Amino acid sequence: MSSGKINVSVENIFPLIKKFLYSDHEIFLRELISNATDATLKLKHLTSIGEASVEYGNPKIEIKIDKEGKKLHIIDQGLGMTSDEVEKYINQIAFSGAEEFLEKYKDSAKDSGVIGHFGLGFYSAFMVASKVEIITKSFKDEPAAHWTCDGSPEFTLVPHDKTERGTEIVLHIAEDSLDFLEESKINGLLSKYNKFMPIPIKFGTKQEALPKPEDAGDDYKTEYKEVDNIINNPNPAWTKQPADLKEEDYKSFYRELYPMQFEEPLFNIHLNVDYPFNLTGILYFPKLASDLQIQKDKIQLYQNQVFVTDNVEGIVPEFLTMLKGVIDSPDIPLNVSRSYLQADGNVKKISNYITRKVSDKLKSLFNESREDFEKKWNDIKIVLEYGMLSEAKFYEKAGDFVLYPTTEGKYYTLAELKEALATNQTDKDGKLVVLYASNKDAQHSYIDIAKEKGYEVLLLDSPIVSHLIQKLESDNENLTFARVDADHIDKLISKEETQISKLSDEEKEKLKGVLETIVPKETYTVQLEAMDSKSAPFMITQPEFMRRMKEMSQSGGGGMFGMGNLPEM
Ligand code: ADP
Ligand code: MG
Repeated sequence: MSSGKINVSVENIFPLIKKFLYSDHEIFLRELISNATDATLKLKHLTSIGEASVEYGNPKIEIKIDKEGKKLHIIDQGLGMTSDEVEKYINQIAFSGAEEFLEKYKDSAKDSGVIGHFGLGFYSAFMVASKVEIITKSFKDEPAAHWTCDGSPEFTLVPHDKTERGTEIVLHIAEDSLDFLEESKINGLLSKYNKFMPIPIKFGTKQEALPKPEDAGDDYKTEYKEVDNIINNPNPAWTKQPADLKEEDYKSFYRELYPMQFEEPLFNIHLNVDYPFNLTGILYFPKLASDLQIQKDKIQLYQNQVFVTDNVEGIVPEFLTMLKGVIDSPDIPLNVSRSYLQADGNVKKISNYITRKVSDKLKSLFNESREDFEKKWNDIKIVLEYGMLSEAKFYEKAGDFVLYPTTEGKYYTLAELKEALATNQTDKDGKLVVLYASNKDAQHSYIDIAKEKGYEVLLLDSPIVSHLIQKLESDNENLTFARVDADHIDKLISKEETQISKLSDEEKEKLKGVLETIVPKETYTVQLEAMDSKSAPFMITQPEFMRRMKEMSQSGGGGMFGMGNLPEM
């Protein structure tokens, strides 16, 4: 029997842990299952290198609720601890056995998937438990140990008669945390944090239908057997090699990630890099246009298959936070604050890498099948346009695949557009004039006039278009944009023959006078030049710059890139 004081300099660290270590009490389960997973993966590693001569078998982790006893059990079949190891790993707060393991087995263990980092995870148990027991039997030939601690710095450590290898953690749930004894609560936590962890996790049992026997008659009643209820998929798609996955595998993983999402993704991007940082994952471009669920389903961040957060702000470039999928990186620390994340050099590199992968993928989709890409344009344009505006690196690449559709359903790249305009759509300064409509129906008569004159009219209808135009104009000196209803159209140098008006100059002036009494003169101009057109007897226009200034101030100026300001899609 041994007893003593937990080895920390702060006399009473528990209240501190309870209060400050994690803002979310529920993560205790994630931490304990991570430790159980680590213990199992370590054993796997030791058996594979011949340092543990035991049968590894098919170990699992079990979670059990004992409602009457007010206890929660986390049981693993991992490497266990000797009594000495409990002293060393548990009683020394902030000493990470996981780090020590990775240090010791450096190269051979770097891909073992061991999760732990800081040597604090275990103590998160005291956020919900008034007393914690560890009953553990090492794979080494030593008696089992039983550690008990009631949340004060005192603990007891005695032998135990457990014979199976592995560790059982018993949490005596505190009175203020009794909801953690509810099956639904635990189920919710398991599916949030542990859905893709690498060791099977059992939570209760379920009925499974037996296959119908060959000779079963018409009156055969399905028979069931009781099987383990395994809550996780230990081999999620992102941990596999892209070459081993088919299109359908990506789609079914999407459904696995977002069970409430019925819309199929447009395409996916498999991330896979191991230098200078480790990162795997799959990102999906969702169908943006038609979806409400879309806002709730976010990119999920994992560390070695443990869910960390679905707030990837700062890790993923802002314009890509509208995508779906998972990112997994052991280089993103589990337990640290957002401000730390943002200062972390790795995190910045990760963000740049993701931007590059996404633009590479877009480029290859564009090159592989332009037709298909054009079909998807409407669903992806907002993301891409945001990207051009907010991420310089993305903007540089955008010329290769960003499209400018016309009201006629034709798609131009910027280079193609310039070429198309060069012959027929310049102004007196020799600038190319890009005419565009923002609403095909509302502006249809202006569009008709422009078409009659042989002009191309783009359909630019996303909510950030005025910003994008501003940017394109400032980066392309010979380009100027004008909405079809701006006072621009008549200033173009058209090669088309103009029609002769049926009205005399005098009649025109008269009509103009009448019209000007009904439209506010400060903002609009009545133009009679269009009377030469077949489509409209006259036009009422507003200077492009005036309208654009107004639009830009309405869409929130500098703060527009905050997702909070994202227009509804
Ligand atoms: P970390 O996981 O960051 O190393 P923890 O506080 O979560 O820190 O755990 C401390 C140490 O206790 C672990 O590194 C490990 O050595 C030991 N430990 C915790 N849980 C188990 C377990 N289920 N089986 C074996 N060892 C464990
Ligand atoms: Mg841990």
